[in-house]
Amino acid sequence: MKAEILCVGTELLLGDIVNTNAAYIAKELANIGIDVYYQSVVGDNNDRLKTGLNLAFSRADIVIMTGGLGPTYDDLTKETVAEYFHKDMQMDQASLESIEAFFKKIDRPMTQNNKKQAMMPVGATIFANAHGTAPGLALSENGKTAILLPGPPSEMKPMFDESVVPYLMGFSDKVLVSHNLRLFGTGESQVEEILYDLMKNSSNPTVAPYAKTGEVTLRVTAAGDTAEECEKLIAPVVAQIEDKLGQFIYGIDVANLQTAVVEALKEKHLSVATAESCTGGLISQRITQVAGASDVFGCGVCSYSNEIKQSILHVSGDTLMEFGAVSKQTAAEMAQGVRQISGADIGVSTTGVAGPGGGSEEKPVGLVYIAIDSEKVSKVIKLNLQRGRVDDREHIRHMSAQHVFQMILDALKSY
Ligand code: ATP
Ligand code: MG
Repeated sequence: MKAEILCVGTELLLGDIVNTNAAYIAKELANIGIDVYYQSVVGDNNDRLKTGLNLAFSRADIVIMTGGLGPTYDDLTKETVAEYFHKDMQMDQASLESIEAFFKKIDRPMTQNNKKQAMMPVGATIFANAHGTAPGLALSENGKTAILLPGPPSEMKPMFDESVVPYLMGFSDKVLVSHNLRLFGTGESQVEEILYDLMKNSSNPTVAPYAKTGEVTLRVTAAGDTAEECEKLIAPVVAQIEDKLGQFIYGIDVANLQTAVVEALKEKHLSVATAESCTGGLISQRITQVAGASDVFGCGVCSYSNEIKQSILHVSGDTLMEFGAVSKQTAAEMAQGVRQISGADIGVSTTGVAGPGGGSEEKPVGLVYIAIDSEKVSKVIKLNLQRGRVDDREHIRHMSAQHVFQMILDALKSY
């Protein structure tokens, strides 16, 4: 089954908004094993929308559209699709009632044109909108299906998850199961080289890599009659990947590194404290993003200045004088200091040159020391994170945090 994404909106064409809807839908479709070969954007214009629909249906069985379901005259997606399928429009009573209820709830008067949002092509499957006024819908004929969703992502996403995914799953009698292996410390090309044969030759399950800064996700997806059957197909492939890339895998079906860290700390009944210089609180911010972080985290010191490194973390003045703030000695003392003052089991620290200015030949931009101090593991790692990109400062800070999380996970193996 092939699908195509067609987003409607002149503001998308003008670059006023970024097409996050297409990115979201593409990712979700990949998750349920539906192929997408094309995405396109068309302005709020009846003729061009029809041209876009014709083209999309010449290549795909399902066209998923977002935008233009609003109440105003420029919102014409639904009317254009109805014309395309030669369907009349009729008032859908249930949709009208839910739009009326929505306005009541937000205590705003409902205007006459809002009623237009309850007009539906005859024969459409309607998707209720719990987060706004415009219902979504699906319209099918001769094996071709158009799915229309509202433009605002806050309405589109829940509708996609709650209504469209079950609707699409109805096209297939197969069950799909996916597991995501999360890797850090290796790149997509290295992963592909190591797993080339496996990725090329496996069709059920499929193995697909996705990369983002410093991380790779391998999604293993199987189709079968039951979830158990899918799990049986997936297990040996996951074992094979673990065998080849186990050292880089920090979790399976875990959201991100900080979540893996919080979960691992919880499991071992240990706590961590952070002393951050160049990351400026990023690590503690990411740890506290995870619900339940308070079980494992109670103290983060943002020690940007030397005075605070000395007065709060007890880094010695001699160390700072002799080796400087960006040094392995300072990093080690920061981690020791924060562990001591907080009473946490593990102390971690960062100190480095995030740039863009401030680097020297001896200590260039991108030089970062990270340290860990605990009863079982105490060490300092030197990183060089400069990539010469315009967003290097952000990159250096982000990657420093990534490496600290990995360092904690490594240390926890000793517990
Ligand atoms: P409304 O009832 O708000 O008019 P609509 O279904 O008619 O909703 P549009 O008018 O096309 O949708 O878009 C409304 C808003 O939704 C846009 O201003 C934009 O903020 C957001 N939006 C629309 N399309 C997209 C998209 N493809 N990606 C991200 N955001 C989008
Ligand atoms: Mg609109």
